[in-house]
Amino acid sequence: MRIADPLVLGAGPAGCAAAIRLGQTGAMPLLIDRDADVGDPLCGGFLSWRTAEQLQTLGLSPAALGAHRVARLRLFDGPHQAALDLPHPAWGLSRHALDTAMRARALAVGARLDFDTVRAIEGLTVEGRVASYRPQSLFLATGKHDVRGQSRPRSANDTALGIRLRLPHTPERQRLLGGAIELHLFPGGYVGIVLQEGGSANLCLAMRKSALADAGGSPQALFAQLARDHPALAARLGDDWRQVRCDTIGAVPYGFIAKDTAPGLFRLGDQAAVIPSLAGEGISIALASGVTAAQHWLAGGAAAAPVYQRAFARQARLPVALASAAWHAAETRIGARAALALARLAPALVAGFADRARIAAPSLA
Ligand SMILES: Cc1cc2nc3c(=O)[nH]c(=O)nc-3n(C[C@H](O)[C@H](O)[C@H](O)COP(=O)(O)OP(=O)(O)OC[C@H]3O[C@@H](n4cnc5c(N)ncnc54)[C@H](O)[C@@H]3O)c2cc1C
Repeated sequence: MRIADPLVLGAGPAGCAAAIRLGQTGAMPLLIDRDADVGDPLCGGFLSWRTAEQLQTLGLSPAALGAHRVARLRLFDGPHQAALDLPHPAWGLSRHALDTAMRARALAVGARLDFDTVRAIEGLTVEGRVASYRPQSLFLATGKHDVRGQSRPRSANDTALGIRLRLPHTPERQRLLGGAIELHLFPGGYVGIVLQEGGSANLCLAMRKSALADAGGSPQALFAQLARDHPALAARLGDDWRQVRCDTIGAVPYGFIAKDTAPGLFRLGDQAAVIPSLAGEGISIALASGVTAAQHWLAGGAAAAPVYQRAFARQARLPVALASAAWHAAETRIGARAALALARLAPALVAGFADRARIAAPSLA
């Protein structure tokens, strides 16, 4: 049994943010992840201005990591489009680049990093494939993946799923997508596209499971159908999309918020709150929860976990509610039309809405 305190499970944005903040203040957390090689987790790769602001306070800069600067939002509904300025500049960056930099930063400020796959958690006892751990404080940051004993409630409803294509750089995609985040709306979901470091494009789709089934059940059939119905999307997909790997993730519990927890167990990132990805704010929530949990731990130790969890749930409520409303509206034909009309007639209103669907950056005082 390994005694490590605090123990941070998961070296994604949430776990790394907590480890960096703890490391910055002299604590020496042990960070555990199942993957020694940082992959490129499925994500839209959009870093909001609030994400960027928080990364700066953790000592990381999207620009220095080669991220693509994004100043415009373009909305598409079939052949119709509307565009507006984002309230503040945002960025496109692959999760490979972000997670690699965050791990390096956590190590630089004194965190330790070990590799193990956690199979179950009972109370505060963690069963890994390599070892067992019994910390006094456990930061649960396994993100999209639930661990036995601490699973988030599963919805019986038509859950959301994500599909991602990483499209290579081409001059045409650079011309079409440079400086913008695009959301292509269709009944049942949306496709988000943004350029990232090196000029490759991240094309990430979120939709209801039933809508994929309606399209024949295969992502390839779905993209072929979307390309037929949506000319602008077809132009971005180009001819080479069939040659790239297609990553998928199922049963994303959009709208989940952990309202309470037991002393010692701090739930972070997607284990604390899952904002619909349309808002592009999940990484920001991950960072905010990691830093806020670390602040509470530094002030009150293991006993502070329930206070942290309730405070973070209150903080996440408004952005998650606004993003859920936008997701529900955008997945209907009438809602998509209304969104485009609003973006044309009152762009400042839409930009203001986009700004409100953000988590407040934690104070480091
Ligand atoms: C379709 C889709 C598109 C999205 N697009 C965006 C976007 O454009 N912008 C944005 O801000 N957010 C986006 N999000 C949300 C964002 O990806 C998540 O909110 C964010 O990744 C949460 O970070 P995290 O650190 O909590 O978890 P994760 O990023 O999932 O990291 C979890 C870490 O834990 C490790 N781990 C998991 N299980 C175990 C285990 N059993 N043992 C050991 N280690 C383990 C993993 O290897 C990983 O390193 C999107 C989400 C979806 C579904």
